[in-house]
Amino acid sequence: MATSFDLDLFVIGGGSGGVRAARVAAQGGAKVALAEESRMGGTCVIRGCVPKKLMVFASTVPGTLAEAAGYGWRVGAASFDWPVFRKKLHSELDRLEGIYRAGLVNAGVTIHDQRAVIADPHRVRLADGTEFTARHILVATGGRPFRAEIPGCESAMVSDDVFNLETLPKSILIIGGGYIASEFACVLAGLGVKVTQFYRGEQILRGFDGEARDLVAEGMRERGVDLRLGTTIEAAEEVEGGTRITASTGGAEVYEKVLLATGRVPNTHGMGLEEAGVKIGKAGEIVVNEYSQTDVPSIYAVGDVTGRIALTPVAIREGMAFVETVFGGNPTPVDHELVPSAVFTQPELGSVGLTEDEAGGRGPVEIYATSFRPMRSAFAGAPDRVLMKLVVETESRRVLGCHIVSPEAGELIQLAAVAVKMGATKEDFDRTCAVHPTMAEELVTMKMPVRRLG
Ligand code: NDP
Repeated sequence: MATSFDLDLFVIGGGSGGVRAARVAAQGGAKVALAEESRMGGTCVIRGCVPKKLMVFASTVPGTLAEAAGYGWRVGAASFDWPVFRKKLHSELDRLEGIYRAGLVNAGVTIHDQRAVIADPHRVRLADGTEFTARHILVATGGRPFRAEIPGCESAMVSDDVFNLETLPKSILIIGGGYIASEFACVLAGLGVKVTQFYRGEQILRGFDGEARDLVAEGMRERGVDLRLGTTIEAAEEVEGGTRITASTGGAEVYEKVLLATGRVPNTHGMGLEEAGVKIGKAGEIVVNEYSQTDVPSIYAVGDVTGRIALTPVAIREGMAFVETVFGGNPTPVDHELVPSAVFTQPELGSVGLTEDEAGGRGPVEIYATSFRPMRSAFAGAPDRVLMKLVVETESRRVLGCHIVSPEAGELIQLAAVAVKMGATKEDFDRTCAVHPTMAEELVTMKMPVRRLG
C-alpha cells in the first residue's frame, strides 16, 4: 500500500539551488514547501555575488575617472558616499528578495520563514515544532564563512559583514588569498580604503593559471592593494582605533578593521542529518552521488552544502537535475566538467578548463599566450596589461583551457567556454575571423605556441 505524505517535496534552504528546485518542481505539479531561516535568495542574492558585483561596479568608477583625463576630459573632484550607496544597495536586495519570494508563491510553493531540521528520512521539523512528512527532502542550506582561529582576531569581520558596515574604514587588513579576499581587496581599495592583504602562500588565487595569478596580483598592487605574500599574523591585539597586527614577516601596524576571508564551510551542523543516516564528509559537506542523492534514498542535497563546486550556476543546475531526476522520471546526472568562472578582481580573471600546470602533467600540450597593453589603457597612459591564453592538447588539437585577464574577462570567458565545452580545436579558433579592434581577437590570432610541455 502506498504511503501518503503531507508533501511531495520539502526543500530546506532558500538560496539559488533550493529556490530553483522548489519552483520548478511545483510548476510541474508537485506539492512543495520550502523553509528558510534567513532571507530568501541565500548567499548569492543577499550576501554574495549580487551585492559584491554592485560594489565592484561602484569601485571601478575612480579608474574610469582617472582614464577620463587620459582621453581629454576635465573631471572635477569626486568622492564616494558609502551611506548613499549602501541604502540603495539594500533596497535593491529587498527588491530581488521580493522577486524570489513571488516566484515561489506564484508556483504554489508554501514558504516557512523559519529554521527546519530533519526529524527522520521523510519528516521535517520546523523551529516552532510543526512537522511535515515529505516523499522527498532536498537540503540546500549552502555554506557560511569559515573563521580561521587567529588569537586576537575574534572580533574580525567576515564577508557577510562588509555589506552592513555603517561607515567604510580608513584601513583594513584582509586575510586570505581566495576569491573573496582578492575581490574585496580590489573593491575596498577602489572605494578609497587603505587595503593590506596577507596571504600565507606563494601567490593568491590558488588553483587558477599561474601566469594569470601573477598578472592579477600585479594589477592589484598597481591599484594600491598592499599585497603581502607568504605572510601570516604573528600576533594581534585590540587597541584604540582598531587591531594592532604583527606580521610573520616583521613589522606591526594598526588596522581599523580586519576581514577574515579564509574560506567557507557547509551548513550541516545541528540539522539532524547524521541522525537520519546521511553521510557527512571531512569538510562537513553532505556526501551525494551524481544525482545529488545522499545515502538516504529520500534525502537529496544540492549547492554549496555538498562541497562540490561552490558557484551559483552550478547549484541551479544541480537543482534542475534533481527535479528532472526525481519528478521528471529522467535520471539526470550533473555535469561538473569545464565549469567556467570569473574572479571579479581588478583586473578581472576569467577561466575555463585546465591550467598550464594541470595540462602539462597529463601529456604533450602547447601553450599559446599573449600579454599586452590594450589600446584603451595604453592611450590613457595606464599601465594595465591583459592576458589571453589557450592550453592546447598537442595530439588532438583540442583547447583544454582558456584563461583571460582583462576588463570584462567574465563576459569574455562565458563565450570562450561555449567553444571549449563543444570540444573546439585550436584550428577552430584559428578559422574564426577576428573582431577588430578588440582585445579578444588575440584569442583567434595567436600563431605560434610560446611553450611546448610534456
Ligand atoms: P577560497 O577557498 O577560495 O579561499 C580561502 C583562502 O583562505 C585561501 O587563500 C586559503 O589559503 C586561505 N586560508 C584558509 N584557511 C586559512 C588560515 N587558517 N589562515 C590563513 N589563510 C587561510 O574561499 P573563499 O571564501 O574566498 O570562497 C569560497 C568559494 O566561494 C570559492 O571557492 C568559490 O567557489 C565561491 N566564490 C565564487 C566567487 C566568484 O565566482 N566570483 C566569488 C566568491 C566566492 P590556501 O590557498 O593556502 O589554502
